[in-house]
Amino acid sequence: EDEVNIISGALCLKTKTVGEIMTRLEDVFMLPIAATLDFNTVSEISKKGYSRIPVFDGERKNVCALLHAKDLAFIDPDDNTPLRTVIEFYKHQLIHTYEDETLNNLLNHFRLGKSHMAFVRKIYATEDEDPYYEITGVVTLEDVIEEILQMEIVDE
Ligand code: ADP
Repeated sequence: EDEVNIISGALCLKTKTVGEIMTRLEDVFMLPIAATLDFNTVSEISKKGYSRIPVFDGERKNVCALLHAKDLAFIDPDDNTPLRTVIEFYKHQLIHTYEDETLNNLLNHFRLGKSHMAFVRKIYATEDEDPYYEITGVVTLEDVIEEILQMEIVDE
């Protein structure tokens, strides 16, 4: 039973797209680049429990960096460290994918090991302007694994 599910999940990787499994931008926990890592912010990060937190500049779709929760290991909330300082120290690479990218291509991307979270772009094609794209969500390796296993992975 489980084996059949996993095989059919794996076979779907070639046809399913990132847009079908991503977490939409409005549901993503993010921080503004101007944030201060004070007690309130650090508590909120800890309460949310995410290992990766996208950072935006101005508008949410303007993602400019990625904070890993473990970057906070040496941060003392009493120091009121600017988030920008931590971002500039670690400079985690941002990787991108597209809503219409297939999951097997995304998985190959993740296997390169640069990041296990990708920012999802949607391309808008208009008649009179050049096409442009916007970030519409995030997708992680766990989202792809859930598709393969055809089951929900409950977070620790
Ligand atoms: P974590 O390690 O933070 O638990 P995972 O990579 O295991 O994150 O992903 C678990 C689920 O949470 C996935 O559906 C993923 O898209 C989503 N997710 C990851 N980071 C965030 C975030 N900062 N805000 C909202 N959802 C997120």
